[in-house]
Amino acid sequence: MGDDMRNHERSERLYAQALEVIPGGVDSPVRAYGAVGGSPLFIARGHGSHIVDTDGNDYIDYVCSWGPLILGHAHHRVVGALRDLVMNGTSFGAPSPLEVQLARLVVDAVPSVELVRFVSSGTEACMTALRLARASTGRDGIIKFAGGYHGHTDALLVQAGSGSATLGVPSSAGVPAAFAGHTLVADYNDLGSVEALLQANPDGVAAVIVEPVAANMGVVPPAPGFLEGLRDLTTRYGALLIFDEVISGFRIAPGGAQERYGVTPDLTCLGKIIGGGLPVGAVGGRRGVMELIAPLGPVYQAGTLSGNPLAMAAGVETLEEVLRPGALDKLETLSSHLEEGLVWAIGEAGTQARVHRVGSVLTLFFTDGEVTNFESASRSDRERFGRFFHGMLERGVYLPPSQFEAWFVSLAHTQEEIEATVDAAREVLTDLG
Ligand SMILES: *Cc1c(COP(=O)(O)O)cnc(C)c1O
Repeated sequence: MGDDMRNHERSERLYAQALEVIPGGVDSPVRAYGAVGGSPLFIARGHGSHIVDTDGNDYIDYVCSWGPLILGHAHHRVVGALRDLVMNGTSFGAPSPLEVQLARLVVDAVPSVELVRFVSSGTEACMTALRLARASTGRDGIIKFAGGYHGHTDALLVQAGSGSATLGVPSSAGVPAAFAGHTLVADYNDLGSVEALLQANPDGVAAVIVEPVAANMGVVPPAPGFLEGLRDLTTRYGALLIFDEVISGFRIAPGGAQERYGVTPDLTCLGKIIGGGLPVGAVGGRRGVMELIAPLGPVYQAGTLSGNPLAMAAGVETLEEVLRPGALDKLETLSSHLEEGLVWAIGEAGTQARVHRVGSVLTLFFTDGEVTNFESASRSDRERFGRFFHGMLERGVYLPPSQFEAWFVSLAHTQEEIEATVDAAREVLTDLG
């Protein structure tokens, strides 16, 4: 690479300044490139499928802000709506019309959602879903899956130690053992591990929370029957089923994974796409459960910026575009071309790797073994991923800086960009040997 190395001087200078005033120089840890080495790029602007860093380097972007930007950066509809609104005030702390419009779009599209409450992040959505489930069942226990991510609320920052599906151990410092003790960890795609926990706690589990398409251990699709099995088990044991569709909502299908796989949860967590790149989350579900929330019921939940007009506007514009006939089909076609191209590149280079894709989220795992859960995903060669990441960056392709984060394809990506990405991947994989 040597001579044609891109210049990252300004990013490096900004990172040094950031380290003086922000812990680790970043406001969210994966951004720090800890998993791939090197120092993070500071991004100056984005248009469509491209971002440009502060040194003027241009990249095809497959992070897309970790999913919200399904229309690409600075989409004209989103920008136009925000520009019109911002002149008339940015927050009122009182109801405003766009909340009703976005809520109507969500209720009409997502099968399980009869009522929806907007919050400011996916984390808050999942936190509120747990509180609702506990209030609804009068139970404290929660089952989550190893490698499932539901934001950074205490009770959900728990993973099983290797191979264990016993009482949770906190995986973040600062989480009281007493909180973590209510969180039980099962293995994704393993109904037996869920049933064992339910049997051991027959009247103790309030809810099972799951990413119906796991996308935070890399992309791992649900095995046939897995989601149906979760629906049956939770019903049998009187627990609620919570789908965390913060990534899959409005992406896997207009109604999310629950539409695509035909399994209806009791509660659904949304975020990312429904805010079109502004801070939003939402929790929705059956009327009977949602009516427990204040002011109708005893479950307290509130937010100074909840239902923020700018965020609602970006969400409305984004959902209307996504829901246009043919939009998600176009995204499926583009994404399938990327998948096929990467599989071809892996074959050309003779690399031991596999590609997982569901709709427009995708992961290239550096392993030749099957990946069905967190344990098998963890067998991927992370050091090789780090070198692949930097090779792609050098060729103008910006990937998520972790083996365990999904690539996001947007409606702004073009067939030519997909082909350029595949060519770059073939070169980099061949160089890696
Ligand atoms: C991103 C994410 C969250 C958390 O959302 P934030 O807006 O970052 O708080 C929750 N669940 C899933 C599945 C996510 O991907």
